[in-house]
Amino acid sequence: MKAVRIPEANQIEILEIAEPTLAAKTEVKVKIKRVGICGSDMHIYHGTNPLATYPRIVGHEVAGEIVEVGSDVQNVKVGDRVVVEPITYCGDCYACNQGRPNVCKEVSVFGVHQDGGMREFVILPESKVHKVNDDISWDEAVMAEPYTIGAQATFRGNVQAGQTVFIQGAGPIGITVLKMAKLRGATVIISDFTNERLAFAKENGADYTINPSEVDTISKINEITNDEGANVVIDAVGLPQTFELSIEVASAAGNVVLLGFNATPSAIAQMLITKKELTITGSRLQTHQFGKVVDYINEGKLQHNGLITHKFPLENVKEAFKFVEENPQLVRKAVITFDE
Ligand code: MN
Repeated sequence: MKAVRIPEANQIEILEIAEPTLAAKTEVKVKIKRVGICGSDMHIYHGTNPLATYPRIVGHEVAGEIVEVGSDVQNVKVGDRVVVEPITYCGDCYACNQGRPNVCKEVSVFGVHQDGGMREFVILPESKVHKVNDDISWDEAVMAEPYTIGAQATFRGNVQAGQTVFIQGAGPIGITVLKMAKLRGATVIISDFTNERLAFAKENGADYTINPSEVDTISKINEITNDEGANVVIDAVGLPQTFELSIEVASAAGNVVLLGFNATPSAIAQMLITKKELTITGSRLQTHQFGKVVDYINEGKLQHNGLITHKFPLENVKEAFKFVEENPQLVRKAVITFDE
């Protein structure tokens, strides 16, 4: 079978490897149908993901069909459509005991720390697959993992109906945060320097859009919120200055959620944090978000609605990575398609 491997930074190859077989009674064999290309895959490709090791079969946004199940598998059967939950953890450390295995000291991400789903077949424990309904298309199913990132950010920010949420960045992650914030009943303001992205955010439910190159973000948020500020600010850009702005525009008793892995410090004084008694939280990967996201997908409440802009067959994966790299303004989400 074919597999896509990054042997070392800046190289990508399609390998012929042996088809895997079940090794435990609780495992399932999945025939892969779609794999999304994520920003983090591009970082692995470029050698700029500090967590990745090489060689690596990438792919953590994965949908496929069950083709074989071990004798002890309970919840899925041959023919089921599934999406893959891409994290494994020790189950034993402080974070795991707090119900937060996404920050387990030994967290391992499928396609980052271990080989992932960009191959024709994969063997997984039953516990790592979630069934979607038979009538859900592969293109909708493959978006489950990206939506869990937005689900986690809105969960960490404790987004509630009636609140005003300000999302910085209308790229693919910002859009998943937007969709989840709208499902939680919030009013959403979203900012981006690209009007095309803002127009897409509007189509996906944004109540207000801000292009900081055209209007002053702080005054605009004050105008929208009657000088209250945004109750939850979610930073899907991750620059030192977007963190600073988040603190500035958050309302009293507000939440600020950070998604970035930027190591550059921000210049933030204590005063505003204390005065407004802000809660600042990180949001990494996801915990326990797949069930809810899959329910929304099954109910038709989460649809990609143009979020997938490009599809490439497995054979053209090199062209796909090159295209994504060279056309960041054209590509929202690109997916690799496998034989059906
Ligand atoms: Mn991803």
